[in-house]
Amino acid sequence: MDWYMRFNIMRERPLINRYKDNFAGIIVDAHVLESFAGATSRFLSTVKKPFIIDPVTYKFSTYNSLQLFSNKRWYPKLFTKFYDGIIEIKELNEDEDENEFLSERPAIRIEPEHFEDEKILKNYVNKVLSYQRTRVSEESGDLKIFEDLPQSTPLILIPPYDIIMKSINDEWLTMNVEFVKKAIQLKNKDEKIFPVIAIYKDLIHRDDFINNLVTKYNIDGVDGYFVWVSDFKETREDQNYLSNYFDFFRKLKSNNKPIINFYGGYMSMVASSTNILDGFSSAIGYGEYRNPFTEGGPAPEQYYLDLFHTNVPKDEVNSLLTITNHPRCNCEKCQIEDLEEIELMDSLEHLLLTKIKELQFLNSHNINQIKQELQNIIQTMEHVDEDHNLITHYRHISRWLEVLNNLDIKR
Ligand SMILES: [Zn+2]
Repeated sequence: MDWYMRFNIMRERPLINRYKDNFAGIIVDAHVLESFAGATSRFLSTVKKPFIIDPVTYKFSTYNSLQLFSNKRWYPKLFTKFYDGIIEIKELNEDEDENEFLSERPAIRIEPEHFEDEKILKNYVNKVLSYQRTRVSEESGDLKIFEDLPQSTPLILIPPYDIIMKSINDEWLTMNVEFVKKAIQLKNKDEKIFPVIAIYKDLIHRDDFINNLVTKYNIDGVDGYFVWVSDFKETREDQNYLSNYFDFFRKLKSNNKPIINFYGGYMSMVASSTNILDGFSSAIGYGEYRNPFTEGGPAPEQYYLDLFHTNVPKDEVNSLLTITNHPRCNCEKCQIEDLEEIELMDSLEHLLLTKIKELQFLNSHNINQIKQELQNIIQTMEHVDEDHNLITHYRHISRWLEVLNNLDIKR
């Protein structure tokens, strides 16, 4: 299974570099690239790992995009790169005083109607693909002097996309598909195109919608899919959501292309180990789900507890380990007196090491053994937490098991 690591914060560089052998590639959002263009480009071109740039075009088109993002420093920069000469906006001049520059930010929300003209659509898709092809090498060009062969082109290109919110008739669905078709016409021989299929999570209950979606994205020339069920937190969703989540992946699998879950946790790892998915992505300690209608940001102080396959608040780690009699993590970073005092970067490294162990476990065990491990957790908790005082920390385990029991997985 392919594990793609998301990279958003500069302090994550040493960790990603240290554990890069475990990752199939690194995904960086275009707005992060624009915010820290030099540092991000230098990192991507020297880390010697394939990278992918997510164009995050939805940030210009969600209903609250202006309110959320238009005051960000990256907003006018990225807007200009994608829409300049396509959508009428005020002239932006970077030489101007910064405050003036920001006050003249384009305040327009992108809508499907903007691309009704075939030429505009083609121009737009080309701009978004070209951005991914050239942005890193442009910015890190001077590195070529002393680096043998800096990697400066992305592993996979992503056509522009909006999140599909409403229904089968969502105009963005039609437009997203047009973007994909155009991207395929514009791709070079050695390039791969993976569209992002981003849907509002309630839509996974709609069979008619999902069937139509799968058919519409069955496009010749597509090399795989990134899937994003928005705001889908695997530890929070009920059995109905979880089982429809898997159903969606399985239906899409009928198109015979690799599927990578763009934001996933332990259940996406399980799905990848059983070939329902081909891989997953997350950031270090966050990004296991994403709500496009909020600003997002790094996780609060947490500790990844392998027992529950999720994070728990740092100040509860000691009591949880004592109550459950679960062995303390033996990784290098956890060899401190009081785990609640673990430093942020150490807790993130611990999380990576724990996920690596989880992947090794999933890759070397069959589905019955994977389910048995979940069953063991439930039994332990029934024993030590009879009154269910701690149920909020592990309720998801029994939901996961129930959903996996109802799935017909052969492996
Ligand atoms: Zn540890």
